[in-house]
Formats: sequence, C-alpha cells, structure tokens
Amino acid sequence: MGIHMSETVTVTGMVLLSSPVKEYDRRIEILTRERGRISAFAKGARKAGSALSACTIPFTFGEYTLYEGRNSYNVKSAGIQKFFGDIAEDYDMTCYASYFAEMARYFARENIEAGQELLLLYITLLALQNKQMPEKLIRIVYEMRMMMIQGQGLELFQCLGCQNTDTREVYFQAGGLLCRKCAEKERELAKVHPFELSLDGLYTVQFILSTPVEKVYSFLVAEEVQKELERFMQGYLGRYLPHRFQSAEFLDR
Ligand SMILES: [Zn+2]
Repeated sequence: MGIHMSETVTVTGMVLLSSPVKEYDRRIEILTRERGRISAFAKGARKAGSALSACTIPFTFGEYTLYEGRNSYNVKSAGIQKFFGDIAEDYDMTCYASYFAEMARYFARENIEAGQELLLLYITLLALQNKQMPEKLIRIVYEMRMMMIQGQGLELFQCLGCQNTDTREVYFQAGGLLCRKCAEKERELAKVHPFELSLDGLYTVQFILSTPVEKVYSFLVAEEVQKELERFMQGYLGRYLPHRFQSAEFLDR
C-alpha cells in the first residue's frame, strides 16, 4: 500500500508554550526529560471535545506519546499527571510561571536531556501554587538553582582568592565568595565593587544551593534579607545572563 507508519516515542514533560495553528490545531513546546525542548503539533486540539485539548494547556505535566516526523512531532495521546489549573486563574502566578517557563526555554535545547530543568520547574510551580513562600523569594530560588544547573554555580564555603573559610565578613564576586582582604584587592586592581552580603544572606544562599530541590522551597527570610538577595540576583544575572526575558517585564522587582 505504500503507507508509511511513523514511529512513536513517549516522553515526560511540561508544556512551556501553546499557540493556535490553522483552524483547529495547536503547536506546543514541551520541556522533556528525555529530549530537551521539543515542539509538537496537536491536530484538532481546538475542536470541541478533542481529547488533545487539555494536554496542550501551558504548564500541563505528563507523559506525551508522539509520532516522530521528519521535522516535527505530532501528539498522539497524553497521560496528564499534573494540571496547574490554579496558576491560570491567578494573574500574578501566571506572570511568574510564564517567566520561569521562558527561562527554562532559553536554556533547554532539542535532544539534550533536561531532567533537572524539568524537575526544578515542576517543583517551583508546586511552590507557587502552595503560596507558602512569597513569589519574589520563589523567583530568587528558581534563578539560583537554574544557574547552578547551567554550570554557573557559586563557591560559597571559602574565599575564591585565598581559600580562607572564615565567613564572618563576606563579599560576592565572579562566581563566589571573597574575604574582606581579597575583596579590597579586587577593588584596587580591577576597580570592581564586590557585593557585600550579610551572614543571614550568605546562609540563605548556601541553603538554596545545597538543599535537594524537592526541599528547597521550605523556608522564609526576613524582608531585608529577601531584598538583599533580590539585589544580589539582579547583579548576578546582569553579569552572567545577558538576556532580557519578555515575561520579566510583568514582574515587579
Ligand atoms: Zn581571601
């Protein structure tokens, strides 16, 4: 008959983006554990009663069975495991979730496994939904952990310059801690101004970067520490992530 049956593949992932295509279809981008960020067409997903409509909603998490075509995937079916319905109903949460998704999109590539990014995004959306932590603090944790996954972690337990482990007075610069002496040296040599961090701020950053991701959204800090960490992350991302995220415009910082 000459009919070519395409292969199917099953991946675990979360919808990052969903856009209408033609009259009845949708195109989605999925962050998958196995194949990184991929895009797929869901034929007929906008028809009333379509079995594919729910699985194309942003932030839906589950197992997607896809036909693998030459240039793109087509969704065959999906087993939804988590549907973040609360997020879509809350404007602020939607803004934050969109920002987190955009950042994950920025880093993920097709055919490069993204299990860590997917887990981080999933746990982060759960934290948003649970409303136990301020959204701004969730954002700080997400950004730090995402940068850590991307290999931009921080040396937090000793001075980068002299390996001094005395952390009574610390500064941050270029990927980690500096003691006061080394910070002063840097200031003179490179005319840079390392960021001074309070002890509470340091302990919080240490906690954020050394706690298993499943437990990282489990703390609160005083408002001044949160403000300090916000300023710190602004400086850090300004230096290491020279990219403007569109969805960040909707967040108040
Ligand atoms: Zn030092």
